Amino acid sequence: MPPAPVIVWFREDLRLSDHPALTAATSSGMPLVALYVLDDNVGPRPLGSASRWWLSQSLRNLDGDLRKAGGSLTLRRGDSQNVIVDLTKSIGASHVYWNRIDTKEGRALGQRLTKALAAIGVAASETHGDLLAAPAQIRGSSGSGLRVFTPFWRRVQNLGDPQKPLPAPKRLTKGPSIISDSLDDWCLEPTRPNWAEGFRQMWRPGEAGAYSRLKEFLDDRAAGYATARDRPDRLATSHLSPHLRFGELSPRQVWYAARFAAAKTPSLASDIEKFLSELGWREFCRHLLSDYPDIHRRNLQSSFDAFPWKKDAKALRAWQRGQTGYPIVDAGMRELWRTGIMHNRVRMIVASFLVKHLLIDWRAGEEWFWDTLVDADPGSNPANWQWVAGSGADAAPYFRIFNPILQGEKFDPNGDYVRQWVLELERLPNNLIHKPWTASPLELSAAGVVLGTNYPEPIVDHKKARERALASYARTRA
Ligand code: FAD
Repeated sequence: MPPAPVIVWFREDLRLSDHPALTAATSSGMPLVALYVLDDNVGPRPLGSASRWWLSQSLRNLDGDLRKAGGSLTLRRGDSQNVIVDLTKSIGASHVYWNRIDTKEGRALGQRLTKALAAIGVAASETHGDLLAAPAQIRGSSGSGLRVFTPFWRRVQNLGDPQKPLPAPKRLTKGPSIISDSLDDWCLEPTRPNWAEGFRQMWRPGEAGAYSRLKEFLDDRAAGYATARDRPDRLATSHLSPHLRFGELSPRQVWYAARFAAAKTPSLASDIEKFLSELGWREFCRHLLSDYPDIHRRNLQSSFDAFPWKKDAKALRAWQRGQTGYPIVDAGMRELWRTGIMHNRVRMIVASFLVKHLLIDWRAGEEWFWDTLVDADPGSNPANWQWVAGSGADAAPYFRIFNPILQGEKFDPNGDYVRQWVLELERLPNNLIHKPWTASPLELSAAGVVLGTNYPEPIVDHKKARERALASYARTRA
């Protein structure tokens, strides 16, 4: 009788290295089936469109990497637990391995699956791979998770270095041949219109692409990161977020690579500290998600439940399309549409604009980001939206309202970022590029700008919008 195969269930860990479940399964020496299940009912909601594009690319690459090591990826669609139990029975597998997703739902699914497998005499192993610290390790005195970032991050750092990343298995023993779904049949990628055209130029999903991004960042851009990271007009950050989101790279790998770079080049120390603390924000958001599974729906501060949000479909649409008349906002929203990503500083500006200038519920913005970001993350996206809105844990106070003109002038001083994405304004001089409505008719016509025709007038007046937002906030508090 051939030896019973084992199954490795891949989820948000689409890589071969530092994959504890894969390492454990390979060490068993048994023939291995690598499985991915597309299950729209797992997680708080189905993946958004841009994430589906990324997933498709990433699965293709994972299959390629597995094949190079002697295996392949089996694809199935449906309820994760049913699919795994059925497959286990049909191939006579003896053991199923997976890395835990440390959310309330992820833990519950792990327990249910372990039980269902035990009922048919199959072993299950759940390992840790996605976080620097498990939520259970960072608890306050009352037993709940921490809601303030600085003490949270201190506690994570006090745990010391995380476990060293594991190498990728050199060779896999291929399990029985089984029929796999075809990735094309899942229709994860857009065809007509193919709005993901710009994504291809920008991204290389998969483990190899993730590594080269990390290397490029540490070699060329880490120096000066702490200050330049706020400048959308510069290539100054790592662009690792979608790779981390899909687990093509683990936070432990990033941690060790960054620490190694700082040890080799001591002048990088403070930049690397800052960079790792950003990784800490990812961790913080994931821990919040673990405690608040409905963080994308529920205000973490319930006082915001009474906030008088406006229903304004026209303004929401203008924001989504990058047609607000505020160049830095429009540049960000167009960058998002074209590339599936937006610079962090600009995310804060556009989010603040939606919530405070337009008084539109943060959940509408969060949903749009969920659909259009390639790094749309169930923890980081809602947690950051709530941070900007003022309703979150450790949030920016609601009364801190970004001025989109001053933010543009400060972080994009020559207007290069705006010029890249808002071509209509390309020829405006630097001193007008963030406030075209202040230009004289002569200046506008010299730049080929006709306000209200080829570029919108501002959809709200900054000063009035600010006062309106503060008044709404005061009413809620009262
Ligand atoms: P770097 O500056 O190189 O940072 C390194 C890594 O740290 C990032 O890849 C990311 O994993 C993590 N990180 C950095 N900043 C944050 C942060 N504020 N919160 C959580 N993690 C962070 N990030 C997501 O990964 N997914 C999201 O869905 C997401 N939605 C956001 C929504 C809003 C309204 C805002 C203001 C921020 C959001 N962020 C989100 C955080 C941040 O904008 C991105 O992580 C960052 O822009 C990614 O670029 P980078 O990889 O070059 O970052």
